[in-house]
Order: sequence, then C-alpha cells, then structure tokens
Amino acid sequence: MFNKNLQTILQQIHDTAVNSGRDPKSIRLLAVSKRMPLDNIIEAYSCNQLLFGENYLQEASDKINAITQNTAKISWHFIGHLQSNKAKQAAKLFSMIETVDRFKIAKALNNHASQLDKFLEILIQVNIGREKQKAGILEEDAQQLLEQVQGLSNLRVRGLMAMPPFSADPETSRPYFKKLSQLAEQLAAKGLFADPDKVELSMGMSRDFKVAIEEGATLIRIGTALFGSRPK
Ligand SMILES: *Cc1c(COP(=O)(O)O)cnc(C)c1O
Repeated sequence: MFNKNLQTILQQIHDTAVNSGRDPKSIRLLAVSKRMPLDNIIEAYSCNQLLFGENYLQEASDKINAITQNTAKISWHFIGHLQSNKAKQAAKLFSMIETVDRFKIAKALNNHASQLDKFLEILIQVNIGREKQKAGILEEDAQQLLEQVQGLSNLRVRGLMAMPPFSADPETSRPYFKKLSQLAEQLAAKGLFADPDKVELSMGMSRDFKVAIEEGATLIRIGTALFGSRPK
C-alpha cells in the first residue's frame, strides 16, 4: 500500500515540476510519520524513502532509537513545536529543525549542536496566514531573526517553512505559498541564508503539495497521502 502511494506521489511531483518548468530533483519528499507506528516507517524505508518528519519529541526519540542501527541513511526533520528545554534532545536526534521561530530556541539549538560537534540545519517557520493559534514568526519580523542567528556558528539556516490556513481547497493556499516564496527571495538577496543559490522552501502537505510545487516548494511534507489516515 505504502509503495503504491509513494509511487503515485513521486509521479505527481515529477509531472507537476516538469509542467511548471522546474527540475523534479529540486524537490524532496518528507514523509510525515507522526503517530504512525514503527512498522510503517520500516516499510517506507524498504521502499527507499529516506527522509522523515516527526512532530513530537518523545515519540520521535522512541522511533529513532528503535531503528537507527539498521537504517543509517535515514534523516529526520523536526516539524513540531519546540520548547527550549527540549532543544538538547532535538539537536541530537534531527538533521534539520524546520520550526525555529524565535531567537531563544535558535540559541539553545546552537549551544547543543556545538556540544555535539554537529552542524544543525534549520528553517525559519513563518506564520504566513497571521493566525493567532499558529506558531511561526510574522513575515515582517523574519529578517531580524535571520540577522540574529547569523552569528550562531553551528546552525545552517537553509530557508523558510510555513503552513497556510487550513482549507479543503488547495487553491486557497496559493497566495500564501507565493508570499513565502517572495519573502525567501528578498531575504536571500540580503545574504541571510547559508547557501543563497539553494534556499529551501518547506511548504505543501497532502492536499496542496502540487500548488506548493508550482509556487517553488523544495521540501513537501506529506503524511496522510502516503501512510493513510493517522491513528487517533
Ligand atoms: C501533520 C503535518 C504534515 C502532514 O500533513 P498531511 O495532511 O497528513 O499530509 C505536514 N506538516 C506539518 C507541520 C504537520 O504537522
């Protein structure tokens, strides 16, 4: 079942990229495995899916520790809300933290990454829909945060991440994706990302990833369309 879903999505990524004049290889698929049991991750790994996203630290830690021996090539991205007192664990377990939205957490991650002698990739999460209940920095404050994190030597700031307001219609997400993409371009022009020629845009989920690819996504985060609906 997983492999069929995976092949369908990879084909859709490929077609959407080509139709919008983009290189399909510039788009990576993050399999969001939150609340899915370990067996599903192992199955996905056996289909050569090597990039996974988790939202909850304890759950991620249990899974990662359980399978790391046999799955050296797997990388994990953290995509949930991160508290500073969990920064140590997060810095250890993940290759990228996609949800950095304040200096305090960036500083904590940097300290722990430095102690681990590790370079940690991060994205800045932007609250692109200006929703009260959502995490993320407001777009007008992103530049200042990026300037602050420049001095943190063990972080590599790769780009931006956002989750637009929920809607059943994927077209509703388009203006938000556009806005994030334009913001990333402006910030890249100011030299605020680690690699100005390869700025990551993490946007698009199961229902709207095609629109996200059309608007420049380089990382799409897909759960349900790959694994089926999550257990409660
Ligand atoms: C759960 C989650 C996803 C995946 O959502 P689906 O609709 O299942 O594809 C993507 N990004 C974040 C931040 C999530 O929490």
